[in-house]
Amino acid sequence: WIAPLGPNVNGFEEDLAKYSGISHCAALSSGTAAIHLALILLGIKNGDEVIASTFTFSATINPIIYQGAKPILIESESETWNMSPDYLERSIEDRIRQGTRPKAIIAVHLYGMPAKMTEIMEIANYYDIPIIEDAAEGLGAAYKGRKLGAFGDVGIYSFNGNKIITTSGGGALLSNKENYVSEARFLATQARDNAPHYEHSQIGYNYRMSNISAGIGRGQMQVLDKWVEIRRSIYATYFTALNSLPINFVEEPEDIFFSNRWLTTILFESNEKRDEIRHSLESLNIESRALWKPMHLQPIFKHFPYYGNKLSEQLFEVGLCLPSGSNLSEQEQELIIKTIKSSF
Ligand SMILES: *Cc1c(COP(=O)(O)O)cnc(C)c1O
Repeated sequence: WIAPLGPNVNGFEEDLAKYSGISHCAALSSGTAAIHLALILLGIKNGDEVIASTFTFSATINPIIYQGAKPILIESESETWNMSPDYLERSIEDRIRQGTRPKAIIAVHLYGMPAKMTEIMEIANYYDIPIIEDAAEGLGAAYKGRKLGAFGDVGIYSFNGNKIITTSGGGALLSNKENYVSEARFLATQARDNAPHYEHSQIGYNYRMSNISAGIGRGQMQVLDKWVEIRRSIYATYFTALNSLPINFVEEPEDIFFSNRWLTTILFESNEKRDEIRHSLESLNIESRALWKPMHLQPIFKHFPYYGNKLSEQLFEVGLCLPSGSNLSEQEQELIIKTIKSSF
């Protein structure tokens, strides 16, 4: 079973589908590949417009460009830091006014915090635009009791090395529509037609997950809920220790939001303070990092239309991701907290 496909791939797909409450799953080589295939399934092609969150990792946007389509970048709201339903609606109206109807929406659940899916889906349904849910950072998180990834027409996960569970590298595409997932499997294995020889009538990709990676994934599924619990308790410890300082947290706005707390992220009052603390952690060999730089500020994407009030620019200026790994020890977290506190 060193062979590319095998029983672990099928098993991992079943595990993921069952865990997430989504009927069908294709295990793939990366989350990026999953987003790319999702766009192909939804018929996105040259010149189409695709709406997406601006506050995200570039892997959300790159596949839009692979398809020759045009990203329309939407600002976040301040409660969850995810796609603002208000700017989403304004952007759709404005694009329609300009004579182009967006073909898909990619909604991201950043840092494992659920986006306001009820509002986003209401708008998407009203304008009849399909949703791809980028739950790369949101595996194990839930909204209104349903796992993230289960809301869109297509949901995607990532199992890259830095995500909440990992297969060293990998991703998955999930949908309740069987034809989407079977088409994804077909495209991900070089679009080989049903024939005794190699016959191709479409362009294919080499995007399947290997059986070895899927075996690691099956093992990881057994600890996923435990790791969500650990990460939530890491967040709670940071919150309790630091909340009385001039530091802001992104809290779950209501109890219908259940974050996996993939990373604990905090906001300082200034860029200078953020950098000062990042440097003092670094001097102790503790890695921390700025939040994602919004896509509308990225040299490669900045000429694309953007709708918003620049909230994510502010978050990028003053925000910091703290060490949040599932294997962070109590003593390590104490040292991080002590280092932050001592600079106030
Ligand atoms: C990691 C990530 C991806 C891409 O997943 P890969 O498996 O690394 O290709 C996409 N979107 C977001 C928001 C991510 O964090």
